[in-house]
Amino acid sequence: MDLKNIYGSMGISPEVYDYCEAREESLRERFRQIDRIFELNQLKVLSAMQESKVSEACLVETTGYGYNDIGRDRLEEVYARVFRTEDALVRSQIVCGTHALATALFGNTRPGDEIFSPVGLPYDTLLSVLGVNESQGSLKEYGVSFSYCDLREDGSFDYEAIRKGINDRTALVTIQRSRGYSQRHTLSVEEIRELIAFVRSVKPEVTIMVDNCYGEFIEATEPSEAGADMVVGSLIKNPGGGIAPVGGYIAGTEKCVKNAAARLTAPGLYKELGPSLGNNRLLYQGLFMAPSVAASAEKGAILLSAVYGDLGFECAPGPSEERHDIIEAVTFHDPELVKSFCRGVQRAASVDSFIRPEPTPTPGYAHDIIMAAGCFISGSSIELSADGPLREPYTVYFQGGLTYYHSKFGVMMSLQQLLEDGLIKKEQLL
Ligand SMILES: *Cc1c(COP(=O)(O)O)cnc(C)c1O
Repeated sequence: MDLKNIYGSMGISPEVYDYCEAREESLRERFRQIDRIFELNQLKVLSAMQESKVSEACLVETTGYGYNDIGRDRLEEVYARVFRTEDALVRSQIVCGTHALATALFGNTRPGDEIFSPVGLPYDTLLSVLGVNESQGSLKEYGVSFSYCDLREDGSFDYEAIRKGINDRTALVTIQRSRGYSQRHTLSVEEIRELIAFVRSVKPEVTIMVDNCYGEFIEATEPSEAGADMVVGSLIKNPGGGIAPVGGYIAGTEKCVKNAAARLTAPGLYKELGPSLGNNRLLYQGLFMAPSVAASAEKGAILLSAVYGDLGFECAPGPSEERHDIIEAVTFHDPELVKSFCRGVQRAASVDSFIRPEPTPTPGYAHDIIMAAGCFISGSSIELSADGPLREPYTVYFQGGLTYYHSKFGVMMSLQQLLEDGLIKKEQLL
């Protein structure tokens, strides 16, 4: 049987198959460039593991206090090598990206301090952490204030506003690399480098944190090599490689990491405590797979952009634009298209492919969200997934795919669903 028939037997009509194949064909050179970055990052991770002498003894289980957990300690050393930082905190006790970011923020600020974002409002869930959205236990309740300025209309940094925004009380500057659920572009490591240099010229001693979610291993370098004091992310995104069952990381200066550890465990305990339980092997293996998985997901995002871009939908980034994370945003201006798209992606899932997603209220988010996610790890967005808040301008965010061909199948199935729901016409696929 040939591929077209196999896709056919899985519900993909010939028009959808041909349309997606033609777009894929045009992306060969682009994919080759991505594979170079993958290769480079694979070697970066491998050499870090070798230099840290990761051994079989690092993979065993520890319990209780987790004193002398060499697997945990060495994993943190490996992360520090990969991110070129002094130290790292990598724990399965960190339950998600928001928790990692909150731990870094609470640990590295004191009452009376101000946190400043030069790149607009941060990701939705951080608004509750900061107290922008009223919430019990926020940084605001502890006397830590927050201010921000937006990017300029053309997406560049508003240096004048940034200079004004940094004051005597500014102790921490937070820079979100990825776009999150916003309309701005994702920052490149080079842009982050320029931004950090400017911030330091205004206030040299300020602590600079980068929310690195979804950006890991997409470029040859990380923001920690561009002057950030710490980079923070989730292990059920890129660096967990789809294998880590839970967790987060904070890689940075010794001081920043210790401050964060004081918050995660307790002052005095710091990084010495925290059993890895049975997770070490999964966290090592996940990091080892991460460059490959990030590259697969990135290719899927580019295919999506090529397919929907050619159909006339607004795609960000566009198919030929440079990318700095694994997210692709398609703006539909219509809630029906958002729902249909997500239902198509769900039909492509490995687990729960028969479930029909519906928009629902979600903790930490202000609007109803529809999520397509059929994952081995619950909520893992490095696995094939799509989601979008049900609000103007009705944008869906597509990400993940542990293998490229799964991601490709997700792209095809989303298009198939739009076709079946009558939201696009067969003639558009000619
Ligand atoms: C995913 C994400 C987070 C954290 O989200 P969690 O769901 O808590 O892991 C924070 N910032 C950005 C930009 C993200 O993409």
